[in-house]
Amino acid sequence: MNPINRRTFVKNTALAGVGAGLVIPRLYPAPNPVVPGERPKQTKSVTVLNPHGQVPVSFIIDDSTTLVNMGHYCLPQFAEAWSSSKGPERFDVPWQSWPKEIPDSFVLEFGQFCREQGVKGKYSIVPYPACVGWIDRVMPGWSPAALRDSLKLVREFMMPNWDIHPEMISHTRVIDLKTGRPLPRKPDGSYWMENGGWCEGKSADEIGAYIAYALQILKNVDLPCEGFTTPGGFGNPAMENLEIGGMQALRSVFNVEVPHYFKYVISDSGESTQPQVEFAKRIDSDSPDFIVNVPSCTGDWFGAWHGGNPDPMDQVTDLHITTDFKKGRMVEVIEKGEPACFLTHWPNMYANGTGQNFKSFQVIVKRLNKAYGNRIRWMKLSEIARYWAAKELTAIERSGNSVKLKAPVGTPGFTLKIDSPGNGEIAPRFAPGPASKFGQMKETKQTTGPLSSGEWRRGESSIELCIDIPKGTSALRLS
Ligand SMILES: [Zn+2]
Repeated sequence: MNPINRRTFVKNTALAGVGAGLVIPRLYPAPNPVVPGERPKQTKSVTVLNPHGQVPVSFIIDDSTTLVNMGHYCLPQFAEAWSSSKGPERFDVPWQSWPKEIPDSFVLEFGQFCREQGVKGKYSIVPYPACVGWIDRVMPGWSPAALRDSLKLVREFMMPNWDIHPEMISHTRVIDLKTGRPLPRKPDGSYWMENGGWCEGKSADEIGAYIAYALQILKNVDLPCEGFTTPGGFGNPAMENLEIGGMQALRSVFNVEVPHYFKYVISDSGESTQPQVEFAKRIDSDSPDFIVNVPSCTGDWFGAWHGGNPDPMDQVTDLHITTDFKKGRMVEVIEKGEPACFLTHWPNMYANGTGQNFKSFQVIVKRLNKAYGNRIRWMKLSEIARYWAAKELTAIERSGNSVKLKAPVGTPGFTLKIDSPGNGEIAPRFAPGPASKFGQMKETKQTTGPLSSGEWRRGESSIELCIDIPKGTSALRLS
Protein backbone atom coordinates (compact mmCIF):
# COMPACT_ATOMS: atom_id res chain seq x y z
CA MET A 1 0.00 0.00 0.00
CA ASN A 2 1.01 3.56 -0.45
CA PRO A 3 1.85 5.10 2.92
CA ILE A 4 1.15 8.51 1.46
CA ASN A 5 -2.47 7.61 0.94
CA ARG A 6 -2.58 7.09 4.66
CA ARG A 7 -1.10 10.48 5.29
CA THR A 8 -3.61 12.18 3.02
CA PHE A 9 -6.38 10.17 4.57
CA VAL A 10 -5.35 11.25 8.03
CA LYS A 11 -5.31 14.86 6.98
CA ASN A 12 -8.63 14.78 5.18
CA THR A 13 -10.31 12.99 8.03
CA ALA A 14 -9.10 15.66 10.42
CA LEU A 15 -10.44 18.42 8.20
CA ALA A 16 -13.74 16.65 7.67
CA GLY A 17 -14.11 16.49 11.43
CA VAL A 18 -13.49 20.21 11.80
CA GLY A 19 -15.89 21.03 8.97
CA ALA A 20 -18.65 19.03 10.54
CA GLY A 21 -18.20 20.94 13.77
CA LEU A 22 -17.26 17.83 15.68
CA VAL A 23 -14.95 17.98 18.64
CA ILE A 24 -12.47 15.16 18.14
CA PRO A 25 -9.47 16.30 20.06
CA ARG A 26 -7.07 13.37 20.01
CA LEU A 27 -8.42 10.50 17.99
CA TYR A 28 -8.16 12.34 14.69
CA PRO A 29 -4.75 13.91 14.40
CA ALA A 30 -4.59 17.33 12.81
CA PRO A 31 -1.93 18.33 10.28
CA ASN A 32 -1.34 21.55 12.14
CA PRO A 33 0.16 21.71 15.58
CA VAL A 34 -1.72 19.91 18.25
CA VAL A 35 -0.05 22.28 20.69
CA PRO A 36 2.06 25.19 19.39
CA GLY A 37 3.15 26.02 22.94
CA GLU A 38 4.81 29.29 23.95
CA ARG A 39 5.42 32.23 21.64
CA PRO A 40 7.52 35.33 22.35
CA LYS A 41 6.50 38.95 21.81
CA GLN A 42 7.21 40.16 18.29
CA THR A 43 6.59 43.79 17.50
CA LYS A 44 4.14 44.28 14.62
CA SER A 45 6.35 46.61 12.63
CA VAL A 46 9.03 43.94 12.11
CA THR A 47 8.22 40.89 9.95
CA VAL A 48 10.43 37.85 9.49
CA LEU A 49 10.60 37.07 5.75
CA ASN A 50 11.88 33.93 4.01
CA PRO A 51 15.59 33.02 4.41
CA HIS A 52 17.63 35.49 2.31
CA GLY A 53 14.27 36.56 0.84
CA GLN A 54 14.11 33.30 -1.15
CA VAL A 55 11.42 30.60 -1.11
CA PRO A 56 12.69 27.34 0.43
CA VAL A 57 12.43 24.27 -1.82
CA SER A 58 13.30 20.73 -0.77
CA PHE A 59 12.99 17.14 -2.01
CA ILE A 60 11.83 14.48 0.45
CA ILE A 61 12.78 10.85 -0.18
CA ASP A 62 11.03 8.15 1.84
CA ASP A 63 11.71 4.41 2.00
CA SER A 64 15.37 4.62 1.10
CA THR A 65 18.06 2.61 2.90
CA THR A 66 21.30 0.93 1.91
CA LEU A 67 21.13 -1.61 -0.94
CA VAL A 68 17.74 -3.18 -0.09
CA ASN A 69 14.89 -2.44 -2.53
CA MET A 70 12.03 -1.80 -0.11
CA GLY A 71 9.56 -2.27 -2.97
CA HIS A 72 10.53 -5.91 -3.35
CA TYR A 73 10.88 -6.72 0.35
CA CYS A 74 7.97 -4.78 1.88
CA LEU A 75 5.31 -5.93 -0.56
CA PRO A 76 4.83 -9.51 0.71
CA GLN A 77 4.73 -8.28 4.31
CA PHE A 78 2.22 -5.53 3.55
CA ALA A 79 0.12 -7.98 1.52
CA GLU A 80 0.03 -10.46 4.39
CA ALA A 81 -0.88 -7.77 6.92
CA TRP A 82 -3.49 -5.82 4.96
CA SER A 83 -4.95 -7.96 2.16
CA SER A 84 -8.01 -8.86 4.16
CA SER A 85 -8.71 -5.34 5.44
CA LYS A 86 -7.75 -3.31 2.38
CA GLY A 87 -8.39 -5.77 -0.42
CA PRO A 88 -5.90 -8.17 -2.04
CA GLU A 89 -6.01 -6.31 -5.39
CA ARG A 90 -3.91 -3.51 -3.90
CA PHE A 91 -1.04 -5.93 -3.47
CA ASP A 92 -1.47 -7.79 -6.74
CA VAL A 93 1.86 -6.73 -8.22
CA PRO A 94 4.73 -8.93 -9.49
CA TRP A 95 7.09 -8.08 -6.61
CA GLN A 96 8.85 -11.43 -7.03
CA SER A 97 10.30 -10.28 -10.34
CA TRP A 98 11.44 -6.89 -9.04
CA PRO A 99 15.14 -6.38 -8.24
CA LYS A 100 16.23 -7.09 -4.67
CA GLU A 101 18.68 -4.22 -4.77
CA ILE A 102 18.71 -0.54 -5.57
CA PRO A 103 22.39 -0.30 -6.46
CA ASP A 104 24.85 2.28 -5.22
CA SER A 105 25.48 3.20 -8.86
CA PHE A 106 21.96 4.64 -8.89
CA VAL A 107 22.56 6.55 -5.65
CA LEU A 108 25.64 8.00 -7.32
CA GLU A 109 23.85 8.92 -10.54
CA PHE A 110 20.95 10.50 -8.67
CA GLY A 111 23.19 12.32 -6.18
CA GLN A 112 25.42 13.65 -8.96
CA PHE A 113 22.48 15.15 -10.83
CA CYS A 114 21.21 16.74 -7.61
CA ARG A 115 24.63 18.26 -6.87
CA GLU A 116 24.81 19.78 -10.34
CA GLN A 117 21.34 21.28 -9.94
CA GLY A 118 21.77 22.36 -6.30
CA VAL A 119 19.00 20.06 -5.05
CA LYS A 120 18.89 19.41 -1.30
CA GLY A 121 16.47 17.47 0.87
CA LYS A 122 15.89 14.47 3.10
CA TYR A 123 16.98 10.87 2.46
CA SER A 124 15.65 8.15 4.77
CA ILE A 125 17.87 5.31 5.93
CA VAL A 126 15.63 2.57 7.32
CA PRO A 127 17.92 0.87 9.87
CA TYR A 128 16.46 -2.67 9.71
CA PRO A 129 14.89 -2.47 6.25
CA ALA A 130 11.86 -4.77 5.98
CA CYS A 131 13.57 -7.03 8.57
CA VAL A 132 16.15 -8.05 5.93
CA GLY A 133 19.20 -7.14 8.03
CA TRP A 134 20.73 -4.53 10.30
CA ILE A 135 22.70 -1.74 8.67
CA ASP A 136 25.08 -1.71 11.68
CA ARG A 137 25.62 -5.51 11.81
CA VAL A 138 24.86 -7.63 8.78
CA MET A 139 22.77 -7.42 5.62
CA PRO A 140 22.11 -11.00 4.48
CA GLY A 141 22.48 -11.22 0.70
CA TRP A 142 25.27 -8.65 0.56
CA SER A 143 28.92 -8.85 1.60
CA PRO A 144 30.08 -6.86 4.62
CA ALA A 145 32.25 -4.85 2.22
CA ALA A 146 29.23 -3.96 0.05
CA LEU A 147 27.34 -2.77 3.13
CA ARG A 148 30.32 -0.72 4.32
CA ASP A 149 30.73 0.88 0.88
CA SER A 150 27.04 1.67 0.68
CA LEU A 151 27.08 3.38 4.08
CA LYS A 152 30.21 5.29 3.14
CA LEU A 153 28.47 6.57 0.02
CA VAL A 154 25.57 7.88 2.10
CA ARG A 155 27.89 9.40 4.69
CA GLU A 156 30.37 11.07 2.40
CA PHE A 157 28.48 11.68 -0.82
CA MET A 158 24.84 12.21 0.17
CA MET A 159 24.96 13.71 3.65
CA PRO A 160 26.36 17.13 2.78
CA ASN A 161 23.13 17.95 0.93
CA TRP A 162 20.65 15.52 2.49
CA ASP A 163 19.32 15.10 6.01
CA ILE A 164 19.34 11.49 7.09
CA HIS A 165 16.18 10.27 8.86
CA PRO A 166 15.32 6.85 10.22
CA GLU A 167 11.88 5.76 9.10
CA MET A 168 11.35 3.88 12.32
CA ILE A 169 13.12 0.54 12.62
CA SER A 170 11.91 -1.84 9.90
CA HIS A 171 9.12 0.12 8.14
CA THR A 172 7.21 -3.17 8.23
CA ARG A 173 6.77 -5.12 11.48
CA VAL A 174 6.92 -3.51 14.91
CA ILE A 175 10.05 -4.72 16.71
CA ASP A 176 10.21 -5.78 20.37
CA LEU A 177 12.98 -3.54 21.70
CA LYS A 178 14.01 -6.15 24.28
CA THR A 179 14.54 -9.00 21.83
CA GLY A 180 14.97 -7.30 18.44
CA ARG A 181 12.34 -9.68 17.03
CA PRO A 182 9.06 -8.65 15.39
CA LEU A 183 6.17 -8.65 17.87
CA PRO A 184 3.97 -11.75 17.74
CA ARG A 185 0.59 -11.44 16.07
CA LYS A 186 -2.31 -9.82 17.86
CA PRO A 187 -4.93 -12.14 19.41
CA ASP A 188 -7.15 -11.64 16.33
CA GLY A 189 -4.36 -12.92 14.07
CA SER A 190 -3.45 -9.54 12.60
CA TYR A 191 0.01 -8.03 12.64
CA TRP A 192 1.61 -5.10 14.45
CA MET A 193 2.91 -2.94 11.63
CA GLU A 194 4.91 0.27 12.06
CA ASN A 195 2.65 2.03 9.57
CA GLY A 196 -0.18 2.29 12.04
CA GLY A 197 -1.96 1.34 15.21
CA TRP A 198 0.84 0.41 17.58
CA CYS A 199 1.17 3.88 19.10
CA GLU A 200 -2.41 3.98 20.34
CA GLY A 201 -2.38 4.26 24.13
CA LYS A 202 1.41 4.43 24.29
CA SER A 203 3.13 7.07 26.40
CA ALA A 204 5.58 9.64 25.04
CA ASP A 205 8.36 7.67 26.76
CA GLU A 206 7.37 4.41 25.05
CA ILE A 207 7.13 6.00 21.61
CA GLY A 208 10.33 7.96 22.28
CA ALA A 209 12.18 4.76 23.20
CA TYR A 210 11.11 3.19 19.89
CA ILE A 211 12.35 6.20 17.88
CA ALA A 212 15.58 6.33 19.95
CA TYR A 213 16.27 2.66 19.10
CA ALA A 214 16.05 3.47 15.39
CA LEU A 215 18.26 6.56 15.81
CA GLN A 216 20.87 4.61 17.80
CA ILE A 217 21.40 2.19 14.89
CA LEU A 218 22.13 5.13 12.60
CA LYS A 219 24.45 6.56 15.25
CA ASN A 220 26.33 3.24 15.33
CA VAL A 221 27.28 3.74 11.67
CA ASP A 222 28.05 7.47 12.00
CA LEU A 223 24.92 8.79 10.32
CA PRO A 224 23.85 11.70 12.54
CA CYS A 225 20.18 12.75 12.37
CA GLU A 226 18.34 15.91 13.33
CA GLY A 227 14.94 14.51 12.44
CA PHE A 228 12.87 11.42 11.75
CA THR A 229 10.21 10.33 9.28
CA THR A 230 7.14 8.36 10.28
CA PRO A 231 6.35 5.36 8.10
CA GLY A 232 2.82 6.29 6.97
CA GLY A 233 0.51 6.30 9.95
CA PHE A 234 3.14 5.65 12.64
CA GLY A 235 2.17 7.82 15.58
CA ASN A 236 -1.55 7.70 14.85
CA PRO A 237 -3.47 8.11 17.04
CA ALA A 238 -1.10 9.42 19.68
CA MET A 239 0.17 12.53 18.01
CA GLU A 240 1.16 14.55 21.05
CA ASN A 241 3.13 11.64 22.41
CA LEU A 242 4.75 11.04 19.03
CA GLU A 243 6.00 14.60 18.95
CA ILE A 244 7.13 14.78 22.56
CA GLY A 245 8.66 11.30 22.37
CA GLY A 246 10.37 12.16 19.07
CA MET A 247 11.83 15.34 20.54
CA GLN A 248 13.14 13.39 23.56
CA ALA A 249 14.64 10.70 21.33
CA LEU A 250 16.49 13.18 19.08
CA ARG A 251 17.78 15.03 22.12
CA SER A 252 18.90 11.90 23.96
CA VAL A 253 20.65 10.10 21.07
CA PHE A 254 22.08 13.01 19.07
CA ASN A 255 21.67 16.01 21.38
CA VAL A 256 19.84 17.80 18.56
CA GLU A 257 19.33 21.53 19.06
CA VAL A 258 16.48 21.84 16.52
CA PRO A 259 14.56 18.55 16.32
CA HIS A 260 12.20 18.13 13.36
CA TYR A 261 10.08 15.46 11.70
CA PHE A 262 8.32 14.68 8.46
CA LYS A 263 4.86 13.15 8.53
CA TYR A 264 2.31 15.28 6.69
CA VAL A 265 1.32 15.90 3.13
CA ILE A 266 -0.53 19.15 2.57
CA SER A 267 -1.50 19.05 -1.07
CA ASP A 268 -4.83 20.90 -1.21
CA SER A 269 -4.48 24.28 -2.80
CA GLY A 270 -5.34 27.02 -0.38
CA GLU A 271 -3.78 25.24 2.58
CA SER A 272 -0.59 26.60 4.10
CA THR A 273 2.60 24.55 3.89
CA GLN A 274 4.46 26.57 6.52
CA PRO A 275 6.41 24.36 8.92
CA GLN A 276 4.85 24.22 12.38
CA VAL A 277 6.85 24.80 15.54
CA GLU A 278 5.19 22.61 18.16
CA PHE A 279 5.29 22.16 21.92
CA ALA A 280 7.52 25.17 22.51
CA LYS A 281 8.43 25.42 26.17
CA ARG A 282 10.92 27.44 28.23
CA ILE A 283 11.72 29.60 25.21
CA ASP A 284 13.51 32.11 27.45
CA SER A 285 15.98 29.48 28.61
CA ASP A 286 19.27 28.34 27.07
CA SER A 287 17.80 25.05 25.84
CA PRO A 288 14.14 25.46 24.96
CA ASP A 289 11.96 22.49 24.08
CA PHE A 290 10.13 22.32 20.74
CA ILE A 291 9.91 20.22 17.59
CA VAL A 292 9.37 21.41 14.03
CA ASN A 293 6.89 19.65 11.74
CA VAL A 294 7.96 20.15 8.11
CA PRO A 295 5.25 19.05 5.66
CA SER A 296 5.42 18.15 1.97
CA CYS A 297 3.23 20.13 -0.44
CA THR A 298 2.75 17.12 -2.75
CA GLY A 299 2.01 13.45 -2.32
CA ASP A 300 4.19 10.95 -4.16
CA TRP A 301 2.89 11.94 -7.59
CA PHE A 302 5.40 9.81 -9.49
CA GLY A 303 3.21 6.69 -9.29
CA ALA A 304 2.70 3.85 -6.81
CA TRP A 305 5.33 4.10 -4.04
CA HIS A 306 6.92 0.73 -4.87
CA GLY A 307 8.03 1.81 -8.35
CA GLY A 308 6.20 -0.97 -10.18
CA ASN A 309 3.90 1.41 -12.08
CA PRO A 310 5.47 4.78 -12.79
CA ASP A 311 2.94 7.31 -14.05
CA PRO A 312 3.38 8.89 -17.51
CA MET A 313 6.12 11.52 -17.57
CA ASP A 314 3.94 14.37 -18.85
CA GLN A 315 1.43 13.77 -16.11
CA VAL A 316 4.05 13.57 -13.36
CA THR A 317 5.98 16.65 -14.42
CA ASP A 318 2.91 18.81 -15.05
CA LEU A 319 1.39 18.04 -11.66
CA HIS A 320 4.51 19.69 -10.19
CA ILE A 321 5.27 22.39 -12.79
CA THR A 322 3.99 22.69 -16.35
CA THR A 323 6.16 23.39 -19.43
CA ASP A 324 5.12 27.06 -19.42
CA PHE A 325 5.89 27.26 -15.66
CA LYS A 326 2.37 28.56 -15.03
CA LYS A 327 0.65 25.68 -13.29
CA GLY A 328 1.33 22.82 -10.91
CA ARG A 329 1.44 22.49 -7.14
CA MET A 330 5.06 23.64 -6.87
CA VAL A 331 4.23 26.79 -8.83
CA GLU A 332 1.21 27.47 -6.65
CA VAL A 333 3.17 27.15 -3.40
CA ILE A 334 6.29 28.99 -4.58
CA GLU A 335 4.20 31.88 -5.95
CA LYS A 336 2.58 32.10 -2.53
CA GLY A 337 6.03 32.36 -1.00
CA GLU A 338 5.66 29.29 1.19
CA PRO A 339 8.15 26.40 1.53
CA ALA A 340 7.65 23.91 -1.30
CA CYS A 341 8.85 20.44 -0.33
CA PHE A 342 7.96 17.66 -2.76
CA LEU A 343 8.09 13.95 -2.25
CA THR A 344 8.81 10.51 -3.60
CA HIS A 345 9.74 7.03 -2.38
CA TRP A 346 13.17 5.70 -3.30
CA PRO A 347 11.85 2.48 -4.92
CA ASN A 348 9.62 4.73 -7.02
CA MET A 349 12.53 6.96 -8.06
CA TYR A 350 14.43 3.81 -9.10
CA ALA A 351 11.32 2.32 -10.76
CA ASN A 352 12.99 -1.08 -11.02
CA GLY A 353 15.81 0.37 -13.06
CA THR A 354 13.63 1.69 -15.90
CA GLY A 355 14.84 5.24 -15.29
CA GLN A 356 11.40 6.67 -16.01
CA ASN A 357 10.73 8.48 -12.74
CA PHE A 358 14.32 9.69 -12.51
CA LYS A 359 13.75 11.32 -15.92
CA SER A 360 10.52 12.93 -14.72
CA PHE A 361 12.34 14.20 -11.63
CA GLN A 362 15.12 15.71 -13.76
CA VAL A 363 12.56 17.56 -15.87
CA ILE A 364 10.83 18.94 -12.75
CA VAL A 365 14.09 20.13 -11.20
CA LYS A 366 15.28 21.78 -14.42
CA ARG A 367 11.94 23.52 -14.86
CA LEU A 368 12.01 24.78 -11.26
CA ASN A 369 15.54 26.13 -11.58
CA LYS A 370 14.80 27.72 -14.95
CA ALA A 371 11.50 29.24 -13.87
CA TYR A 372 12.68 30.61 -10.55
CA GLY A 373 16.49 30.82 -10.50
CA ASN A 374 17.50 32.59 -7.32
CA ARG A 375 13.92 33.30 -6.24
CA ILE A 376 14.09 29.82 -4.69
CA ARG A 377 16.60 28.32 -2.29
CA TRP A 378 17.18 24.55 -2.10
CA MET A 379 17.45 23.62 1.58
CA LYS A 380 17.67 20.52 3.74
CA LEU A 381 14.68 19.95 6.02
CA SER A 382 16.94 20.65 9.02
CA GLU A 383 17.83 24.06 7.58
CA ILE A 384 14.16 24.89 7.01
CA ALA A 385 13.31 23.67 10.53
CA ARG A 386 16.06 25.80 12.07
CA TYR A 387 14.91 28.89 10.17
CA TRP A 388 11.29 28.41 11.22
CA ALA A 389 12.25 27.85 14.85
CA ALA A 390 14.11 31.18 14.79
CA LYS A 391 11.27 32.88 12.89
CA GLU A 392 8.61 31.73 15.35
CA LEU A 393 10.53 31.86 18.61
CA THR A 394 12.73 34.96 18.41
CA ALA A 395 11.53 37.79 20.64
CA ILE A 396 11.56 41.05 18.65
CA GLU A 397 11.31 44.36 20.50
CA ARG A 398 11.51 47.77 18.90
CA SER A 399 11.92 51.20 20.33
CA GLY A 400 12.17 53.85 17.61
CA ASN A 401 15.13 52.89 15.48
CA SER A 402 16.50 50.29 17.88
CA VAL A 403 15.51 46.65 17.47
CA LYS A 404 16.37 44.07 20.11
CA LEU A 405 16.36 40.38 19.19
CA LYS A 406 16.45 37.38 21.50
CA ALA A 407 16.73 34.11 19.62
CA PRO A 408 16.50 30.68 21.27
CA VAL A 409 18.35 29.25 18.23
CA GLY A 410 20.56 30.96 15.69
CA THR A 411 20.19 30.68 11.92
CA PRO A 412 21.96 32.03 8.85
CA GLY A 413 20.15 34.34 6.44
CA PHE A 414 17.59 35.70 8.94
CA THR A 415 15.72 38.25 6.87
CA LEU A 416 13.55 41.02 8.27
CA LYS A 417 11.24 43.68 6.90
CA ILE A 418 11.12 46.73 9.14
CA ASP A 419 8.32 49.23 8.57
CA SER A 420 8.58 53.00 8.92
CA PRO A 421 12.32 53.21 9.51
CA GLY A 422 12.01 56.98 10.09
CA ASN A 423 12.76 60.09 8.08
CA GLY A 424 16.38 60.59 9.00
CA GLU A 425 19.36 59.01 7.30
CA ILE A 426 19.05 55.24 7.29
CA ALA A 427 22.23 53.24 7.80
CA PRO A 428 21.48 49.96 9.59
CA ARG A 429 24.07 48.52 11.93
CA PHE A 430 24.05 45.11 13.57
CA ALA A 431 25.57 43.93 16.86
CA PRO A 432 25.58 40.11 16.92
CA GLY A 433 25.88 39.80 20.70
CA PRO A 434 25.15 41.76 23.89
CA ALA A 435 28.79 42.88 24.20
CA SER A 436 29.48 43.20 20.45
CA LYS A 437 30.15 46.41 18.58
CA PHE A 438 27.65 47.58 15.98
CA GLY A 439 28.91 46.91 12.45
CA GLN A 440 27.70 48.80 9.40
CA MET A 441 25.49 46.82 7.00
CA LYS A 442 25.95 47.07 3.25
CA GLU A 443 23.25 48.68 1.12
CA THR A 444 22.31 46.94 -2.12
CA LYS A 445 20.57 48.74 -4.96
CA GLN A 446 18.90 45.49 -6.13
CA THR A 447 15.23 45.99 -5.37
CA THR A 448 14.37 42.29 -5.73
CA GLY A 449 16.21 38.97 -5.51
CA PRO A 450 18.08 37.41 -2.64
CA LEU A 451 19.86 39.31 0.09
CA SER A 452 23.21 38.13 1.38
CA SER A 453 23.95 38.19 5.05
CA GLY A 454 24.99 41.72 6.06
CA GLU A 455 23.02 43.37 3.24
CA TRP A 456 20.01 45.68 3.36
CA ARG A 457 17.82 47.52 0.86
CA ARG A 458 15.18 50.24 0.82
CA GLY A 459 11.52 49.59 0.17
CA GLU A 460 8.69 52.12 -0.10
CA SER A 461 8.14 52.80 3.57
CA SER A 462 10.22 49.98 4.92
CA ILE A 463 13.63 48.38 4.69
CA GLU A 464 14.65 44.75 4.31
CA LEU A 465 17.80 43.36 5.84
CA CYS A 466 19.53 40.01 6.24
CA ILE A 467 21.69 38.87 9.17
CA ASP A 468 23.17 35.67 10.53
CA ILE A 469 21.28 35.78 13.79
CA PRO A 470 23.12 34.14 16.71
CA LYS A 471 21.50 32.27 19.56
CA GLY A 472 20.87 34.74 22.40
CA THR A 473 20.63 38.51 22.36
CA SER A 474 21.56 40.72 19.43
CA ALA A 475 20.56 44.20 18.27
CA LEU A 476 19.99 46.40 15.24
CA ARG A 477 20.17 50.17 14.92
CA LEU A 478 18.58 51.62 11.84
CA SER A 479 20.26 55.02 11.87
ZN1 LIG B 1 7.80 5.26 4.13
